[in-house]
Amino acid sequence: MSFYYEYEKLKELPFDDIFQGITETDVKRVLQKQRMNTEDLLVLLSPAAENLLEEMAQKAHELTVQHFGRTILLFNPIYIADHCVNVCTYCSFSVTNQFERKKLSLEQIEIEAKALADQGLKHILVLTGESKTHTPVSYIAEAVKVLKKYFSSVAIEINPLDTEEYKLLADAGVDGLTVYQEVYNEEIYKSVHVKGPKRDYRYRMDTPERGCEAGIRQINVGALLGLDEWRREAYFAAMHAHYLQSKYLDAEISLSLPRIRPHLGDYQPKSIVEDRHLVQAITAFRLFLPRSGITLSTREPEYLRDNLIYLGVTKMSAGAKTEVGGYSQCETGTAQFQISDERSLVEIQKMIREKGYQPVLKDWELLV
Ligand code: SF4
Repeated sequence: MSFYYEYEKLKELPFDDIFQGITETDVKRVLQKQRMNTEDLLVLLSPAAENLLEEMAQKAHELTVQHFGRTILLFNPIYIADHCVNVCTYCSFSVTNQFERKKLSLEQIEIEAKALADQGLKHILVLTGESKTHTPVSYIAEAVKVLKKYFSSVAIEINPLDTEEYKLLADAGVDGLTVYQEVYNEEIYKSVHVKGPKRDYRYRMDTPERGCEAGIRQINVGALLGLDEWRREAYFAAMHAHYLQSKYLDAEISLSLPRIRPHLGDYQPKSIVEDRHLVQAITAFRLFLPRSGITLSTREPEYLRDNLIYLGVTKMSAGAKTEVGGYSQCETGTAQFQISDERSLVEIQKMIREKGYQPVLKDWELLV
């Protein structure tokens, strides 16, 4: 079984007709319910629900406080290499973009780790481009062992791997896996992933499931909003999270809905996702899956991040760098994308406290 079979059925839904047929009365009825089903998710993502965002936000806030308290877990990405063999039209690291590629040595990773750990952070997300030559699994495993000396939680966002490879990384100390489908629309997926192993849509879609089977504790899925019409993409991403949560009861499933940001290259988003649309997508997801985490990155602007804290977000990056060696300046890499919220970790912690929430730097530790 695979989410791909679910997707094959779901993609045949007449989305335009369904969304146009939903009324404000339908939305109000759904908002009275204690538990939302998959039909309700469509109602919450509909154009009619845009007029009831305030009510959705209130309910999303209550559910988030009920399940997570008033806490925001802080983490940061750490880029250790930017070599990539893929052509992805929306990313600076695409192999066709000309810049000097970097890869940190284990010694440089330690320098970078110290610089980040000195800020007090305990949760990190390790990123690379996709190049089995430059960043084989053996390199990632060695890097993770270095990073585990400084951080209680090490998650990865690297090229998709086989289950056995994930098991190897879990043994090295990896406890989280982030892998976005980028775009669930299979035709658009093929058109924006022009060349390289990432063109394999099905292999990527099954990646979170392989991570679950390898015993990785936290799995984060999502869609890069802007590549296709956002309501459908948010729906598929939420259904993917729902599928994983129902099947892998031991795993903690989270969702992210990043929006495309400026990068090297000239790709323009197909679909403009306005702030209110992102708010609707996040609150709809919270109402549909109240126990799942929602991650919000520094791609989003300050004012929006500040307000989304109330509506369902449970995890945020803070003071993030998106280039190799960005924290210690042990290397001078090229940013994967432009950050929008440039506040420091200290400033973000202050903002969270002022909102009556608790910033959490460490919520657990994997002992290996
Ligand atoms: S999105 Fe990932 S795979 Fe694609 S070019 Fe960027 S780093 Fe490489």
